[in-house]
Amino acid sequence: MTVRVRFAPSPTGPLHIGGVRTALFNYLFARKHGGTFILRIEDTDQTRYVEGAEDYIADAFRWLGITIDEGHLVGGQHDPYRQSERADIYLSHANQLIESGWGYYAFDTPEELDAIRKKNESEGKVFTYDSTTRSTLKNSLTLSADEVKTMLDNGDPYVIRFKFPENREVVMQDIIRGTVKVNTQTLDDKVLFKSDGLPTYHMANVVDDHLMEISHVIRGEEWLPSLPLHVLLYEAFGWTDTMPQFAHLPLILKPEGKGKLSKRDGDKLGFPVFPLLWTSPEGEVSRGYREDGYLPEAVINMLALLGWNPGTEQEIFSLEELCQQFDLERVSKSGARFDPDKAKWFNHQHITKKSDEFLALSLVDSLSGKDIIANFEYVVKVVSLVRDRLNFTHELWDHAHFFFENPAEFDEKIVKKRWKSDLIPHMQNVSQIIAATTPYQAESIKEAVSKYIETNGLGFGAIANALRLALVGSSVGPDLFAIVETIGAEACVNRINFAIENIDI
Ligand code: GLU
Repeated sequence: MTVRVRFAPSPTGPLHIGGVRTALFNYLFARKHGGTFILRIEDTDQTRYVEGAEDYIADAFRWLGITIDEGHLVGGQHDPYRQSERADIYLSHANQLIESGWGYYAFDTPEELDAIRKKNESEGKVFTYDSTTRSTLKNSLTLSADEVKTMLDNGDPYVIRFKFPENREVVMQDIIRGTVKVNTQTLDDKVLFKSDGLPTYHMANVVDDHLMEISHVIRGEEWLPSLPLHVLLYEAFGWTDTMPQFAHLPLILKPEGKGKLSKRDGDKLGFPVFPLLWTSPEGEVSRGYREDGYLPEAVINMLALLGWNPGTEQEIFSLEELCQQFDLERVSKSGARFDPDKAKWFNHQHITKKSDEFLALSLVDSLSGKDIIANFEYVVKVVSLVRDRLNFTHELWDHAHFFFENPAEFDEKIVKKRWKSDLIPHMQNVSQIIAATTPYQAESIKEAVSKYIETNGLGFGAIANALRLALVGSSVGPDLFAIVETIGAEACVNRINFAIENIDI
């Protein structure tokens, strides 16, 4: 079987992580089966089009390493991949539905429908345009052929609606959910085509999935209610034999486990819900995973496990591993709780897999922002010492600043606890020992200082803590003698002298 899947976003705003997860599952499924991953832009609702949203999707994919095989940016055998450029195709298909009786013209104006809705409401009823009401409304089922022709010729506004068969049980198969049954009595005659000459989502989506030879439709659970209409559209067009298989992915839930994760939750709960920073045309800014310091690998890994599991204990995956292991069989039906702490944990895990050189580039960025010039090899060495503590690469500066600047002040609490006047002469001696040790290496310096401590009957902790305070300004940092070795003898001597002169006891 040839696998052809598509991600079909509507460019109505930035792609949120739920959308990215859908795209990722499609991508992984395509890669796993040696198939084709298509990006199709569903922009037939011109009123909801948001400038920049299309570019945002492409940028997000680029950052995440999701590559597209066919799409508006790369072309392909079914060009164009932007629905607004395919209007003619939909028009001919809409006409086909009219001819076969599966569709009908409806001329009811929004005002008329509104009035009917209100009247129903006042009687405690809910109005739906469906098999029970269509015969009372203004459409090509109730008007004569001549009347319809005249209205169309006059350019009266109309929509084309789908004519659901009466009281029919539609039986559908979903890879994740199994058999799903819905009776058409519960469905309304959806608008398929609008008087602006463009189709609605349903019609364009089904026509394109067919024409683009899509084998599997993998999308969010929120589209499950549209499935009966889509399945019947395949029947109406005579395409049932080649209808794609469907898989509706579970919702991504809020961290507390209840309710769908919404675009607003990020700001409310303090984590990004978008892959990249987004500035809306109105100037509203939403944070992004990239700008918050996440590695794309971590975001991919985190998203892959939202609703899918490998069936083993493995939690850390590269994109390549996911491409090999992913399958729809292990996607769960129930919602997947989003856990922002777990997202950080994934980032930490993927940082541990990065080379010192890679991480050093991020520290170099922070240094240039502070006009600090440092030798790259030195930066790499520093990174090797502090990297274990990182959740984010932008934390490097906080963990490593004392490798690049002398402490300007000293943590008062630590001073109180660790800096005693009787230690000062010893600190002076230790400073000389450090400067005189050869080879100048952590091990040998530690040995020489330890020997001094022993000879003078001092406690190792007392000297080490005071020395760290002098070199770092507080009690934090990696191995003390690694710091001594890295910053060099001169910096050590200067910092010890500075501490002696500046710490008030
Ligand atoms: N354009 C729809 C969306 O914005 C696509 C849904 C589907 O995949 O069928 O999500």
